[in-house]
Amino acid sequence: MSNKVQVAVIGSGPAGYTAAIYASRAQLQTTVFAGYQSGGQLMFTTDVENFPGFPEGIMGPKMMMQFRAQAERFGTTMVDMQVTAVDLTTRPFKIWTTLPEGVDPQKLTDLTPAQQQELEANITANDPEYLADTVIISTGASPVKPGVPGETALSAKGVSYCAVCDAAFFKDKETFVLGGGDSAMEDALALAKFAKRVTVIHRRDAFKASKIMQERVLNHEKIKVLWNTTLEEIMGEQQVTNVRVKNKETGEEQVLPAQGVFIAIGHRPQTTLFINQINLDGHGYVVTRQSATVDGVVQAQAALTGGLVAYPTMTSVEGVFAAGDNVDVRYKQAITAAGQGCAAALDAERWLERNSSE
Ligand SMILES: Cc1cc2nc3c(=O)[nH]c(=O)nc-3n(C[C@H](O)[C@H](O)[C@H](O)COP(=O)(O)OP(=O)(O)OC[C@H]3O[C@@H](n4cnc5c(N)ncnc54)[C@H](O)[C@@H]3O)c2cc1C
Repeated sequence: MSNKVQVAVIGSGPAGYTAAIYASRAQLQTTVFAGYQSGGQLMFTTDVENFPGFPEGIMGPKMMMQFRAQAERFGTTMVDMQVTAVDLTTRPFKIWTTLPEGVDPQKLTDLTPAQQQELEANITANDPEYLADTVIISTGASPVKPGVPGETALSAKGVSYCAVCDAAFFKDKETFVLGGGDSAMEDALALAKFAKRVTVIHRRDAFKASKIMQERVLNHEKIKVLWNTTLEEIMGEQQVTNVRVKNKETGEEQVLPAQGVFIAIGHRPQTTLFINQINLDGHGYVVTRQSATVDGVVQAQAALTGGLVAYPTMTSVEGVFAAGDNVDVRYKQAITAAGQGCAAALDAERWLERNSSE
């Protein structure tokens, strides 16, 4: 028989745990499906210095354990399993956590849409493990990684995926930014406030970033660009010491001194599970009524009631809400994710008061 919950939170980063704190404190039966890598992206970093309340900073994993403990204190049930299939077409919503034999749980978030569909076809033939009155999707996003030698070993030892978070650690250092879009431009400019020099590595001969951002980067005295260049290796033992780059036209390789390497080639929202279930934008982000995109504005307009947007965190499916980096095309910070988690839980609570499925 399926377990019934009032609020099912899928994902266990700052957004999911905050949603759980609010929902369980509001006396709603709340279950967090924490996934096989619970705690989210901050489990892979060291010092977090920009989350309010920690004047000396706090280690990312420690902060996430505290989020989790706070949710448990108010009665949240933690299920350390990955949600492998959902059916959001009828209420109560159906949730499966079955893992078919031979499927590697670590690879579940990398499935292609076709692989996900095949997996679901097997799983949903059986009854779901859980039924839920509301669902809060907070599965996050993961930075796209170039997969160059040295990247994983030197992550948080000079390799960073978040300049807003880490730029201040690179005062007077030699730094590199990989990418050519708006995020890379923003990262380069953020770093230039602190670093001795910023070199942008870009594989093409022109940026795809907006013109205004390009101009700011190209006119900045501390920033230079290596055009038509690929990052081949990040080098160092305990910390990054060098990068090896290659000019695509000449084939010439150089080893350059480096203390920081910022990867800015995009994020991948972890939303394959929700294809065909809710509206996702062209990049896979969940569309809610507060998404800062055209799709979000359209959804918000349709939900205007008396001059206010009803349930801003609601997705295209009534009773399904979303929060955090899987919605947020722009800020992607722990504090913004947590704030959205709070909003999603409050929306779910109010929506439940008016629409109980029982
Ligand atoms: C290296 C690094 C350092 C950072 N440093 C900072 C910093 O100093 N300050 C700051 O503010 N921000 C920082 N960030 C950004 C911050 O981590 C994110 O903005 C924040 O974690 C987003 O929270 P979230 O809850 O939306 O998602 P996430 O943190 O991405 O968490 C989502 C969780 O959902 C789980 N999940 C996914 N699919 C499923 C499923 N099907 N079933 C169950 N669970 C699932 C994932 O495994 C993950 O645990 C950093 C990011 C990185 C990568």
